[in-house]
Order: sequence, then structure tokens, then C-alpha cells
Amino acid sequence: MLIACRNAAFAYEGNTVIRELAFEVDSGDYLCIVGENGSGKSTLLKGLLGLLPPQSGAVLRGDQLKTEDIGYLPQYKAAQKDFPAGVCEVVLSGRQGGRGILPFYAKADKQSAMENLNRLGIGDLRNACYRELSGGQQQRVLLARAFCAARKLLLLDEPAAGLDPPATAELYRLIREINQNRGLAVVMVSHDVQTAVKYANRILHVQGKPLFWGKPEEYAESPEGKRFMGG
Ligand code: ADP
Repeated sequence: MLIACRNAAFAYEGNTVIRELAFEVDSGDYLCIVGENGSGKSTLLKGLLGLLPPQSGAVLRGDQLKTEDIGYLPQYKAAQKDFPAGVCEVVLSGRQGGRGILPFYAKADKQSAMENLNRLGIGDLRNACYRELSGGQQQRVLLARAFCAARKLLLLDEPAAGLDPPATAELYRLIREINQNRGLAVVMVSHDVQTAVKYANRILHVQGKPLFWGKPEEYAESPEGKRFMGG
């Protein structure tokens, strides 16, 4: 077990937004979290990351999973678009976890940053200023940052936000490849339920609490899955 929720609930200032969470993620798993807007998906990711402590129940970490082993892509917010830094700095900042306060980067970190920029097709932007990029380019930089940081677990909140359809398809292919080739566990919040069912090996459908947890092929046959996929 890499990470698990044991009857966990999460709340903001005492107002519970999601409860009764009981599932686990093993290394190599690809979990897609689906559900309507406001159903608590982003909140759950923050809970897995440890940004939000559970209101009740517990989030357990196994396999010596540390926060710095987790790559996290937060939901894209226009407010972050003016971040005054270079592309390389943004990507490398994902690997600061284990390095204390001084942003000292080893050669391996820089190599990993370049590898991931190239992987996302934006190697030529390495010397660009982040705030001068388009929304889609910024999203790819933030993805490279999450890929760079993820040693055991990748948490992605709507990773395709701001990408056009070809870039979205390529991104899903990449995530799948990283999941399979590097054995990295992926937990992804997605609106795109068709893709979720195609690539993931677990589906969690939430609406303030879990409505479905299981395999994608069972989800596709379940009442929740049929309703959500058909709609
Ligand atoms: P989803 O990701 O499924 O769209 P969220 O987890 O973002 O849902 O939000 C679940 C609920 O929690 C919503 O009602 C939202 O308004 C509320 N919420 C989200 N973030 C905060 C916050 N920082 N403070 C208070 N309420 C919040």
C-alpha cells in the first residue's frame, strides 16, 4: 500500500465536503477520480497530499512514502499565471522538497527538468519567462514540474485544462507511459470520464462521498457509470 483513506472525511472550517472515503492506492496503480463540479475531488487530492488534514478517519501512507516523493499538479488557476520566474526554475521548484531552504539543484535535477520539458514538447521554452507563456504552455510547464517531483506518486488535478485536443491526447498517452514504464502511481482528477475508463485501473466516483470505487469495466456497467458516461 502506497497511500490509503480509512473512513476519512475532509472539511473546511468544520463544513464537511467529502466523507466516508475508504480506498487505497498501490504502487503502479492508476486511479481516476470523477464526479460533478463541487463534489470534493480537489479537496480529496489536497487531503492525500497532506495539505488538508482529515476531519475524521485517517490518511495512511505506506512504502515509506514521503511528501517529497509526490508530484502534484494543482488545479490550474489564472491567478498563478503571473508567477515571476523562468521556466526552468518553476520546473525545478518541484524537487525542492528534500533540499531544505536553499534552492541548490544537483546536475541530476537539472537533467530531469530538461528531460521532462522535452517529454512535454516544450524543451525550447527552457529559457523563457513563465508569465509570458500561453495558458496551455504554462500548464505543460506545471506538468513537467509535477513529473520531475514525482518519485512514487503523481497527483494530477485536471491535467488537460487549457490544452487543445491533440495536446490532451498526447498528455494522456504520456501519463500512461510514465505510469507503466516507471511504475509510478497516478491519481488523477478528470472530467474526461471516457479517457478515465480507458487508461485507469481504478475509478472513484464521488459526490460528497464515494458512489463507486472499483475497476473501470465494472464502472462502465454500473448505474453511476452509465449515468455519468451517457450524460
Ligand atoms: P471539485 O474538485 O469536485 O470541483 P472541490 O473539492 O473543489 O470540488 O470543492 C468541494 C466543495 O468545497 C465545494 O462546495 C467548494 O465550494 C468547497 N471548497 C473548496 N475549496 C474550499 C476552501 N478553500 N474553503 C472553503 N470551501 C472550499
